[in-house]
Amino acid sequence: MSPENTFHYALSSNNAWAGYKAHQNPHFFPKLAGGQAPEILWIGCSDSRCPETTILGMQPGDVFVHRNIANIVSPTDINTTAVIEYAVAHLKVKHIVLCGHSACGGAAGALSDGRIGGVLDTWLLPLKTVRYNHAEELDAITDEKERVIRIAQLNVEAGIKVLMNNPTIREAIAERGLEVHGVFFDIGCGRIKELGCGTAHKSSSTISGDHVVRGKHGQLVFGQDGEAEIAAAQ
Ligand SMILES: [Zn+2]
Repeated sequence: MSPENTFHYALSSNNAWAGYKAHQNPHFFPKLAGGQAPEILWIGCSDSRCPETTILGMQPGDVFVHRNIANIVSPTDINTTAVIEYAVAHLKVKHIVLCGHSACGGAAGALSDGRIGGVLDTWLLPLKTVRYNHAEELDAITDEKERVIRIAQLNVEAGIKVLMNNPTIREAIAERGLEVHGVFFDIGCGRIKELGCGTAHKSSSTISGDHVVRGKHGQLVFGQDGEAEIAAAQ
């Protein structure tokens, strides 16, 4: 990255990217300009290391997004709720993905007893509630990084409960099979795993702790050692 001016570097990088994409596929930008039909609503953390479209290996137009500090889903937050409403009722996405991540600064902040300052302490209150609701489990974890990971996972579970009680989402689940997924992104290895909450827990999405990615004709099964196997679709 240019040491002089990151913003100017970003603009020239964008110019190169736009040229490359247009060269690769002349229809790419005209098609994008015609409208969006994403199938995924992604709710994630604002953290710069979690750019959803990039880590999913997807493209502009594939993912509708709401990100905030520590991917907190609060029923009274009109910003999150408006994004959900538009994605579910108007764009009719097929999947809602709530993603937490390792090394989350918001999760670490909620585990701290000190004040962060400004509005941040207020914003993190739902995570503080998660902390106090699971104090016994969290206090028993001696490794600090693991404790941050665990509260971030519990935060996803709490957010999934809010999503599953959202009236628009409930209607879409009943009427057209909208799926809601709680997942966790490990920054240290780049992989996303399902947490088994949301609508996903009703179907078997994990096999003895392995991570399964289902396709139309088969499924990729990632073992805990990171090895992948292809199995026939059921
Ligand atoms: Zn975060």
